[in-house]
Amino acid sequence: MEQIPYYSTNHQSPDVTFREALLLGQAPDKGLYLPMEIPRLSPEVIYSFINKPYHEIAFEVSRLFLQGEIPEDKLKQITKDAYTYAVPLEPVYERKYILRLDQGPTASFKDFAARMMGRLMQYYLTLENRSLLILTATSGDTGSAIANAFYGLDNIKVVVLFPETEVTNRQRKQMTTLGKNVEVIAIDGKFDDCQALVKEAFADPELFHLNLSSANSINIGRLVPQIVYYFYAFSRLRKGLPDDDVIFSVPSGNFGDMMGGMMAMKMGLPVKRFIIAVNENDEFPLYMKTGEYRKVEPSRNCISSAMNVGHPSNLARLVSLYGGVMDEKGFISKQAGLELMQKELYSVSISDKMTRQTIQDTWEKHNVLLEPHGAVGWAGLNAFLEDEGGQFDKDQLFISLETAHPAKFPEEIQALLHFDPELPPSLQGLEEKEEAFGYMKNDYAAFKRHLVERY
Ligand SMILES: *Cc1c(COP(=O)(O)O)cnc(C)c1O
Repeated sequence: MEQIPYYSTNHQSPDVTFREALLLGQAPDKGLYLPMEIPRLSPEVIYSFINKPYHEIAFEVSRLFLQGEIPEDKLKQITKDAYTYAVPLEPVYERKYILRLDQGPTASFKDFAARMMGRLMQYYLTLENRSLLILTATSGDTGSAIANAFYGLDNIKVVVLFPETEVTNRQRKQMTTLGKNVEVIAIDGKFDDCQALVKEAFADPELFHLNLSSANSINIGRLVPQIVYYFYAFSRLRKGLPDDDVIFSVPSGNFGDMMGGMMAMKMGLPVKRFIIAVNENDEFPLYMKTGEYRKVEPSRNCISSAMNVGHPSNLARLVSLYGGVMDEKGFISKQAGLELMQKELYSVSISDKMTRQTIQDTWEKHNVLLEPHGAVGWAGLNAFLEDEGGQFDKDQLFISLETAHPAKFPEEIQALLHFDPELPPSLQGLEEKEEAFGYMKNDYAAFKRHLVERY
């Protein structure tokens, strides 16, 4: 099978293969990689997903992006190995559902991408007899998902930086109780400082010999696995043959999750509309309304902390899908097709007050437990229904994504609903495990010295 070329959204770097895009992360021109042509699935194949397990759908979807780059039996094995946990769909009312992406080993949707990306990287590194040092900055969920997914893999070492005071106890323990090839360092600073240290290391020629790579949300290896659960969710809930369709609501920060959904739609999934729900960082809904893009600087701190993003790192990809060009700083040199964007997407900003109200209401009215990120998604769905709901009957299928397990946010749930959410198996026993992590000042010279000495 012929390989698909991947282009950079900045259009200043040569096209690459999937393998190169995966191992590079970002393109040399600082753009993001996207497939030159998005492969399509026929309605018959999409229908056949109805009785396929999750890992087989993951195989069917990802093989199209990886064609000619990995033997199919190997890919089959990787998807089977990565997806061993449940993906529940919880009814709320009528045909409105919550898709719970919180059953993986670190209880956030980031497990879906990290587990697949880690295994793909290991496959290529073993082939090439190379090793890689992954540097990642985290505000909570990414670090633990990456650390868990790469834990114990050969040829890959992981260094995670986190802001000392900005992650919860549980989030920290999910990273610091691993050991082996995973090193965790607390930085005396904010998430942005951690991110800046990592970025500076990538750009430092004196560290090239360490084979640094990032596992952050711009890596194409994270995007492809995030297409799969949109197909999966529809396959479980669709009815009738030809003309059922779905409206998704996606709580969004860096827009990696919603880009997976967009790709699914471009591949042929019958999505009527995407609701892109953001917290008080409202740069995207404003852009959709006005066509003018302004980052929120500094980003606003909301209780849906994993979505405190003032300039979504995947936005350049979305703009590119609509024919525009946005660089890594957010400058638009070619405007996207806003009319089509407005037809396919609906975006809304949800306040912390509304997020809390939503957690309370869905619990009281529907006995459905949401955490702050999922609540932003559900509140976005409600806002959409209020705005444009008149045109849909109760037969319209809606699916809102819950991106983390409520037990990751016990303080918020306790304050609002006065009980502690039950721990999923993946979080049990965490309290008793031994932690190990380093401390470092927010100082690049010290960080660099550490990397050179240790790796
Ligand atoms: C990362 C994260 C998000 C945001 O996902 P993006 O792909 O960055 O839009 C939402 N919820 C949770 C719990 C997350 O960890």
